Amino acid sequence: MRLSDVLNKAPDGAVYQIEGFLGGRPLRWRRHRNIAVGKVFHNFHCQQCGDQRSFQSGTSLACLGLGDRAVSIDATLKCPGCEGRVEVWFVVGSENDIFGQAPHVRLERYTENLRDRAVSIGEITGPFADLVKRANAAYEAELGAGSMVYLRWILESITCEVAEIANVPTVGKKGGRVPFRDLLERVNDQRSIIPQQFSSNGYKLFGESSEVIHGNSTEEEALKKFKPCLQLVLGVVEEVNRDNVFASAIDELGWGVDDIDVIAGDAS
Ligand SMILES: [Zn+2]
Repeated sequence: MRLSDVLNKAPDGAVYQIEGFLGGRPLRWRRHRNIAVGKVFHNFHCQQCGDQRSFQSGTSLACLGLGDRAVSIDATLKCPGCEGRVEVWFVVGSENDIFGQAPHVRLERYTENLRDRAVSIGEITGPFADLVKRANAAYEAELGAGSMVYLRWILESITCEVAEIANVPTVGKKGGRVPFRDLLERVNDQRSIIPQQFSSNGYKLFGESSEVIHGNSTEEEALKKFKPCLQLVLGVVEEVNRDNVFASAIDELGWGVDDIDVIAGDAS
């Protein structure tokens, strides 16, 4: 088995024994070496071609040393149809010396930068999925307030949408917008959209997300609140979807509500 075979299985993180790829010479910390370990292939849905394509790398990959037991590998993968390029990045670790003759390696990290040129196969698209994706990306980059902004955005869009259908006024007597918290309460009174498990703490969680967004909490606190807030937001979307009228309205937004479980699963 060659290193490319392991990279092609990404994101599989199992241990595989492979042919040595560094010629028995250690690759020191932050040193580069080009390695020939076979081509990397990955299937994506190409935006330009409008179809699934097997994107592939060249024969030589850039390998960066991360010590005796790990390397980082960057590859540019090209669509065979339109030559559109995306980038993928791997961290490969080893239990023994990674530069050895037959190291046991496993993929420790896999990241894609698809740059709007391609989407992962089976990935949910549409504005809702996109916002959840952004929220998760911000969370993974440890941007607490940033991740929360996207969750708020989802919650506010869906609440306003429901308010409109249920004829809950979104504008106050003086013509100004109803504060979001009040609107959420009114909408929830008419059509309970806050899931049962959050009925006691839904507003509290929402209030906490406001604190975070307005900079009244630390990034660390914000990150701690992300997962429960994400569950709340996904729960609201699901709750709204239980009602057929709302479901079709949300469907029109292209929010792919059937895929919420998938999105929620991704987030765990
Ligand atoms: Zn293409």
